[in-house]
Amino acid sequence: MAKILINDGIHPAGRQKLIDAGHDVHDTKIAQEDLMTQLQSFDAICVRSATKVREDLISACPNLKIVGRGGVGLDNIDVEFAKSKDIKVINTPAASSRSVAELAFAHMLSLSRFLYKSNRHMPRDGDSEFKALKKSFSKGVELGGKTLGLIGIGRIGQETAKIALSMGMNVVVVDPFVENATLSMEVAGHPIKHDIKTVPMDTMLSEADFISLHIPFTGSPVLSTSEFSKMKDGVMIVNASRGGTIDELALLEAINSGKVSAAGLDVFENEPSPRKEILAHPNISLTPHIGASTGEAQEKIGLELADQIIELLG
Ligand code: NAD
Repeated sequence: MAKILINDGIHPAGRQKLIDAGHDVHDTKIAQEDLMTQLQSFDAICVRSATKVREDLISACPNLKIVGRGGVGLDNIDVEFAKSKDIKVINTPAASSRSVAELAFAHMLSLSRFLYKSNRHMPRDGDSEFKALKKSFSKGVELGGKTLGLIGIGRIGQETAKIALSMGMNVVVVDPFVENATLSMEVAGHPIKHDIKTVPMDTMLSEADFISLHIPFTGSPVLSTSEFSKMKDGVMIVNASRGGTIDELALLEAINSGKVSAAGLDVFENEPSPRKEILAHPNISLTPHIGASTGEAQEKIGLELADQIIELLG
């Protein structure tokens, strides 16, 4: 039986799985400053993004065998140092992919039928300006038959591509690190495989009606003034990846010039204080970084974490 501290919460299904495997699970949060003394008797700690597991804490806890991170990033953990002490560092990068992909589509559907605008205007003017609002939101477009340009065909990009294909969209992909991707999906119980060959950025930019980003932030934006200038007029852009992957000032300029007709953003350059011009823009659909925030993703994260811990502890 191992002693496990769950310090930033876990889905009840994951907690129960650890208990059923015979482990001693503690899930009352220990304040960061008290961890140095109180984590010493534990074999494993599970965190999300709040608790920091730095070198000094790791050094103070010689019993520690596993650091588990529910979710993707490992910024709050000194991974290399932990590994040098023979501590396993695990995370659950795939558990939220479907949720993020669905949020990207929620934005696309919202943009294509003006839901984000309609929801802002109907409460105020829906009774007095019904016909005028109907007219202003009547030039919607269907997603079926349109081309979705994806930047990044990793876990989330692939889930997004699957939804796009099942909606009858064409999918064009840019990913300098991938030549071919094979998507495996199931439609009404029938297994389907679909091969995608990546294309150069300029090809995608000239063909896409919608563009969705699914890449990490690597220090500079992948969409800036030059890329916007190569896009189709009226293109719609969705970003549920990381702030900074789009140059926000260039995006605002492209929207104000009409090059980009609308954008859906879940991530921002200055989180948690996105720029006012973005928040107030009438042609931007907004969510506060909730891509992975579904019950299903949280459950999958909890269960995957529990499975890995149980396996590692033998
Ligand atoms: P992944 O590592 O599985 O895939 C990323 C892909 O991007 C890889 O195939 C890589 O080759 C490709 N790539 C890297 N640089 C590129 C570039 N310049 N141009 C094109 N492709 C490039 O990652 P993932 O799990 O699919 O996650 C993608 C992004 O989504 C990450 O930034 C992650 O942080 C973010 N994310 C956001 C939320 C949210 O709440 N909105 C939740 C989870 C993950």
